[in-house]
Amino acid sequence: MVTTARPQEKVKISQTKLLINNEWVDSVSGKRFETINPATGEVICDVAEADAADVEKAVTAARKAFNSGDWPKMSARKRGELLYKLADLIEQNKEELAFLETLDNGKPIGESMTIDLPFAIACYRYYAGWADKIQGKTIPVDGPQFCYTRHEPVGVVGQIIPWNFPLVMQAWKLGPALAAGNTVILKTAEQTPLSALRIGELILEAGFPPGVVNILSGYGPTAGAAISHHMDIDKVAFTGSTEVGHLIMEAAAKSNLKRVTLELGGKSPNIVFADADFDAAIDGVHLGLFFNQGQCCNAGSRVFVEESCYDEFVQKCAEKAQQRRVGDPFDQQTQQGPQVDDVQFEKVMSYIESGINEGAQVLCGGKRVGDRGYFIEPTVFADVQDHMKIAREEIFGPVMSIIKFKDVEEVIQRGNDTMYGLAAGIWTKDLSKAHKVAHGLRAGTVWINTYHAFDVAAPFGGFKQSGIGRELGEYGLQQYTEIKTVNIRL
Ligand code: NAD
Repeated sequence: MVTTARPQEKVKISQTKLLINNEWVDSVSGKRFETINPATGEVICDVAEADAADVEKAVTAARKAFNSGDWPKMSARKRGELLYKLADLIEQNKEELAFLETLDNGKPIGESMTIDLPFAIACYRYYAGWADKIQGKTIPVDGPQFCYTRHEPVGVVGQIIPWNFPLVMQAWKLGPALAAGNTVILKTAEQTPLSALRIGELILEAGFPPGVVNILSGYGPTAGAAISHHMDIDKVAFTGSTEVGHLIMEAAAKSNLKRVTLELGGKSPNIVFADADFDAAIDGVHLGLFFNQGQCCNAGSRVFVEESCYDEFVQKCAEKAQQRRVGDPFDQQTQQGPQVDDVQFEKVMSYIESGINEGAQVLCGGKRVGDRGYFIEPTVFADVQDHMKIAREEIFGPVMSIIKFKDVEEVIQRGNDTMYGLAAGIWTKDLSKAHKVAHGLRAGTVWINTYHAFDVAAPFGGFKQSGIGRELGEYGLQQYTEIKTVNIRL
């Protein structure tokens, strides 16, 4: 068992191997890789590194579990009970998991405790409830026939998740897949393998049969690519960059036409009209961008502000950003921790530089905080133009771009002028206008007078290059079933 130093002392890292067929094993190659504490840049520990050979072992176990053994024989209600049990175990170990999440990812402990853990638990409970309610239809077809549908599991599912919400992403993936009766090979992001491994221990404790859930730590081009190219994986569910989303689809097309669902990047407009509740809009725009160090696929990263309130808004927004407490993620007062790693840190800093070079006005921030770890000052750019890189590309950091607009039609058109379509926000007291804009925007989720308002029952996903399919809610469950039509001649 590896024990870490300082506040993180509370964190015991009990598992660093791969979970295959309900056993903790080393990788076939024997290779391991280090995971870093982003607040210090120090190594936390190393973990087993899966590649194609380990994916092969996991697929064999998952296929066997899908075809025979306890899982296919298990009643749907019992599957639900296992998921409820897992949710209870996560809740019992909530504090430890929150510490582990903060240690490996850098997110403030207050948020790990009050947002990530409760959301992950709620997701498992929500899908536990669905397990015995997945049902088909009887269909009135012509002739002496009786026709009905069955919603059957897709089969062996590969799931590839990112590092920005490791526990939540794991829950969004495992919850519906297991409720529907699939078996899973889940590959975590190389930056944040630790919390998922602890969940693996709880999965064993809950009593899931061997091979149903396999958890691999490893890199994208090796383990991830082996999953997306595999001939015996029936579906791949991916969350991450749009760039890799293209590779996943290509791999599915070139291998066995496995089903593909993708939850990808965004450049979401958050639109403030002059008739909005001004203070609520400032708070909402601030949360919409800075939450989770700006590392959200649905971040409101293009803030459109109506001309008549632009100057006042910009000034207040910068003042609020300057008050944001950046620092030790284990301090309960901290609002912003480090970026997840040096790669993301450098990427965000280069976008800041590009904003300056392209002539946007830096109202605050723009620099590194401290001299160790990957902290960046909350940064606000004003006078951003639509063509600038910071207005077009996903920055995935604490960098806000404020853009001026004049009227409704114009802001809908400019809001839609992007290859993405994940989310959008609208701030106004005029409900007719709110609905008009909501209907005009090509985005999977539109929030009105709120932002980041997630619920496990409400579907989430993208239009355009922000993804394919939906997660959460009943729609999310449908992505994990195949529909079988049964027709009997009477
Ligand atoms: P990424 O897309 O490279 O990684 C996400 C997951 O995909 C990880 O598990 C990774 O190992 C895996 N992966 C990478 N290459 C793969 C491949 N060829 N085949 C299969 N799996 C592969 O994202 P990143 O490099 O961690 O971050 C880059 C950018 O992606 C970020 O700056 C951000 O813009 C975006 N991003 C989006 C989300 C999101 O929630 N939509 C999450 C993380 C990152």
